[in-house]
Amino acid sequence: VLRVENLHKRFGPLHVLRGINLSVRKGETAVILGASGSGKSTLLRCLNFLEMPNEGRITVEGKLVGQVTTKPGVMAYSNAELNALRARVGMVFQQFNLFPHMTVEGNVMIGPMKLRGMTTEAARKLAHDNLRRVGILEKAGEYPARLSGGQQQRVAIARALAMEPSMMLFDEATSALDPELVGEVLLTMRRLSEEGMTMLVVTHELGFAYNVAHRVIFLEGGEVHEQGTPQEVLLHPKRERTRDFLRSHT
Ligand code: ATP
Ligand code: MG
Repeated sequence: VLRVENLHKRFGPLHVLRGINLSVRKGETAVILGASGSGKSTLLRCLNFLEMPNEGRITVEGKLVGQVTTKPGVMAYSNAELNALRARVGMVFQQFNLFPHMTVEGNVMIGPMKLRGMTTEAARKLAHDNLRRVGILEKAGEYPARLSGGQQQRVAIARALAMEPSMMLFDEATSALDPELVGEVLLTMRRLSEEGMTMLVVTHELGFAYNVAHRVIFLEGGEVHEQGTPQEVLLHPKRERTRDFLRSHT
């Protein structure tokens, strides 16, 4: 579903992504690990074109190849093209960013109505289907402020799913939550993975990586330093930096 080739991103003199190559197959859950500042968020933001890469190719689904291929230094996307690309890739952040003045179902309906031209009725049905999928349909009429952090994050997941993306990106989706709320969000993500959703997940939850991921990618200094099955990378890391990281996170 996703192929990233030789991706580079610089912020002025800071060369944050230094030639990332990776791919995520359909139905696969890949977890990205890496120390703070290794470029995990920048990578995800480039994949959703929240940041413009300086160089490299990003292919989302074979049929979009021509449209999403970037040539070095050439960033020629119209807003319409960017919106179409973003709609194919759902993203969930550390901060849920729900609209406070809209109900839960309103938050999930707005994207499909505004960006996909759905009618209110069709968007409401889609919203309810996805709120059920994340186990929170009973809160459809509530306002976000009356939900726990874990519930709000599950609404944010439903909101992304309602765009019917071909894959989902998660950037430390549980890092802002109180410890007792982390489990419900990880469980929701695990269920999505088991449903066959294609997922690229940045997390420090090694248990999730071990139990759910098909593949673990360790990022270091803006490069893919090591990757493999969870057993390979988490239990038998080949490289020193991976071992250091794992030691400091267990
Ligand atoms: P963390 O685990 O702390 O979230 P990360 O791996 O997600 O870290 P990034 O947020 O991708 O790391 O940041 C990588 C580097 O890029 C850091 O040195 C950061 O300061 C820098 N950086 C990120 N965004 C910008 C920006 N918009 N402008 C300038 N520098 C940036
Ligand atoms: Mg980050």
